[in-house]
Amino acid sequence: ATPMSIMVGVGKAAEYGALIRQGDALQTASKLDLVILDKTGTITEGHPSVTKVHAVDGDEDTLLSLAAGLERHSEHPLADAIVRKAEELNLQPEDTEGFEALNGQGVRARSQGEVLRLGNRRWLESEGVALTQLDDAAQTIIDDAGTPLFLALGDKALGVIGVADAIKEDSRDAIARLHDAGVRVMMVTGDIEGTARAIAAQTGIDEFRAEVMPEDKAEVVSAMRGKGYTVAMVGDGINDAPALAAADVGFAIGTGTDVAIESAGITLMRGSLHGVPDAIEVSRATVRNIH
Ligand code: ADP
Ligand code: MG
Repeated sequence: ATPMSIMVGVGKAAEYGALIRQGDALQTASKLDLVILDKTGTITEGHPSVTKVHAVDGDEDTLLSLAAGLERHSEHPLADAIVRKAEELNLQPEDTEGFEALNGQGVRARSQGEVLRLGNRRWLESEGVALTQLDDAAQTIIDDAGTPLFLALGDKALGVIGVADAIKEDSRDAIARLHDAGVRVMMVTGDIEGTARAIAAQTGIDEFRAEVMPEDKAEVVSAMRGKGYTVAMVGDGINDAPALAAADVGFAIGTGTDVAIESAGITLMRGSLHGVPDAIEVSRATVRNIH
């Protein structure tokens, strides 16, 4: 590899908005045969909004006030959606005490002398909350590629809130380009199976791993490297930093968090997934020129 041809390649990649931060990332990108994509903020816009509110007792306003009372303390994109919806409807968030966020599960605090929880089904059921009465409402949310979040006070289910995040308009095209380049594409998400399947179907992804806890994303990357793949990880969040660092090449979405950007070899300034096939093409051309 001549320093000159690498410099030309780095410059060319920059024209596509792909900033090479680690010297060897450009050359390694030519060998990539598996790209693993985070879902939220990577394939999707990362600004979810509330699509459905269903209260067991029919009082949707109280349900949202309680949920907002929890989520105003959280920095998760899902939390932002719920707080904004409550504001839009001029609902006052309920007071809660002792807020805690549980990675990959949800949030909890004390309210009215009991534990108020908002999060995914698996977590609430493990806490002894029966949710079958909310099955139909939850399925409607999942079929629309949304995420159902269940609210319970103590062991009593209060309702379900649907939050959905739009897919970036060019994600599907960028994924098709990766397939055309002979690269396998996989999605990894903390979200549930049904929602992941809906997003995968809409973007042409044939493989996904759902309900992956944040700390386990890096293990998925390492396992695929262990199978002989040269792996790229693409992500935007603090959650994704270890997985970005574990990959042969990490691609951070430029609008994402600083921690993600610092853990990745390449930053995609335009936020679009097209930066990944762009970088691979430039990389392959650069390596061809070298030999
Ligand atoms: P992702 O990979 O989709 O960004 P996370 O690991 O951040 O996923 O979250 C996984 C799941 O944990 C969410 O889909 C949600 O069910 C639950 N969860 C995480 N944070 C919150 C929160 N602040 N409020 C409600 N649920 C949450
Ligand atoms: Mg994300």
